[in-house]
Amino acid sequence: LSTFAQSSAPTLQVATEPTFPPFEMQDQATGELSGFDIDLMTAIGEAAKLNIEFVSLPFDGIIPALQSKTMDAAISGMTITAERAQTVSFSRPYFKAGLAIAVQEDNTSIKNFSDLEGKQIAVQIGSTGAQEASTIEGANISSFDSASLALQELINGKVDAVVNDGPVTLYAIRQAGLQGVKVVGELVTEEYYGIAMPKDSPYLNDINNALELLIQDGRYRAIYQTWFAG
Ligand code: GLN
Repeated sequence: LSTFAQSSAPTLQVATEPTFPPFEMQDQATGELSGFDIDLMTAIGEAAKLNIEFVSLPFDGIIPALQSKTMDAAISGMTITAERAQTVSFSRPYFKAGLAIAVQEDNTSIKNFSDLEGKQIAVQIGSTGAQEASTIEGANISSFDSASLALQELINGKVDAVVNDGPVTLYAIRQAGLQGVKVVGELVTEEYYGIAMPKDSPYLNDINNALELLIQDGRYRAIYQTWFAG
């Protein structure tokens, strides 16, 4: 019976942009995906009896791929925003995040968001960080395909700051050994990640129910510990 259930389970193509550790990353040699989002979506697939097939896409290509239904879902550290919710459906929130400002370690002049006026700022294309940075008066924004490329620009001294998701920048510094940069101040925004789907997705309820189950039975907690312990 279980073999039958598995083989008859629908297969979901799930988009992710895998340069966003610890949420999603890809082994250069094997191509294997790993990360918090990958583990969570895999567990959701098990709980909801859905086969999950991950597909790597550029971050700014994810929403168009959902709109055209080329993809069935996306998990990619994506913030639930009112603007995005006009074109895609989101699951219940699964992670609390927010933007943080990163500067070079010896920088003492930038302490908060208003100190970024007139500065050179690097961001990831299509991100909430890019959106937020675009509101800063006189700032000169450079956009990159990934958050890690934006951070590299800061290390190279080409920009004054990076506006990016706090958990990702902190992970890069604390766990991945990124040197020469620091995070200043508090998180600039309060954001919640959600799994995105096409507007009339038949999987929205299944995914929400599975998420709820994983949060209640401790599996969510175990995945959280794997990537954020200590
Ligand atoms: N959370 C941010 C957003 O949704 C960044 C996501 C990402 O770069 N993967 O825009």
